[in-house]
Amino acid sequence: MITDQILSQEAPVIKHTFEMSGLGKAPFEIVHPKQHALALGQIFYCEHCGTVIKNRNFIKSADGKISVVGIDCLKKTGDHGLVAGHLRMKRELEHERREAIIMENTAKREAEEKLLNGGLTNADLISALMDQRETLCSDLVENIEDHFVISKLSRHGFEIEMKHQAMTGKPFTPNQLTVVREICAKKASGARKNSKKYLSALENVSTYVDDLQLTLNSHADQLAAINNKIYQLRQL
Ligand SMILES: [Zn+2]
Repeated sequence: MITDQILSQEAPVIKHTFEMSGLGKAPFEIVHPKQHALALGQIFYCEHCGTVIKNRNFIKSADGKISVVGIDCLKKTGDHGLVAGHLRMKRELEHERREAIIMENTAKREAEEKLLNGGLTNADLISALMDQRETLCSDLVENIEDHFVISKLSRHGFEIEMKHQAMTGKPFTPNQLTVVREICAKKASGARKNSKKYLSALENVSTYVDDLQLTLNSHADQLAAINNKIYQLRQL
């Protein structure tokens, strides 16, 4: 295009301010201080103007030269890419600073926890308690799946519901206990409700129902104790 040619011919060659002060070839970019602070050691003056500076901006030229410049000189270049890079790096460093504080606090807290818990952090304790809880629940299923009462709860509907409730470790309510006793007595005796045979069976099965309920209550207590410990640890 003709206009492009005219533009490129007429555009004056303006050298980058930093290029003129010997900081390398443009374009410049902002680079992370972590990698370059060591290389540049104790330079706490602006390599462009010589002023002593507090906050160092590390810039890298197109030909790989790393320099330290002050924020005032950086802004005065009018180099938008460089200013944007400076802002981006400022955010990045602030983020890193906060992360470092968080990590330091976490390490401090965990060290204190380990002192109190015999070498374990609270997170370790919670994880162990969760394992304990899982074992408790699977042990219950194993313990009661062949239980006399559970074996009688086989019909769809209420019976299966009660079976599931027991398997998940939830004790029966008084009303549920009554009905479960009746179901077991009916099935064990094969007799009509309130017949002699039924009533005698009711007495017998009651022992089993009470035994299951005792197991469920004990399980619920242990579960509550574990959950309470987990809750307490999470409040710390
Ligand atoms: Zn300067």
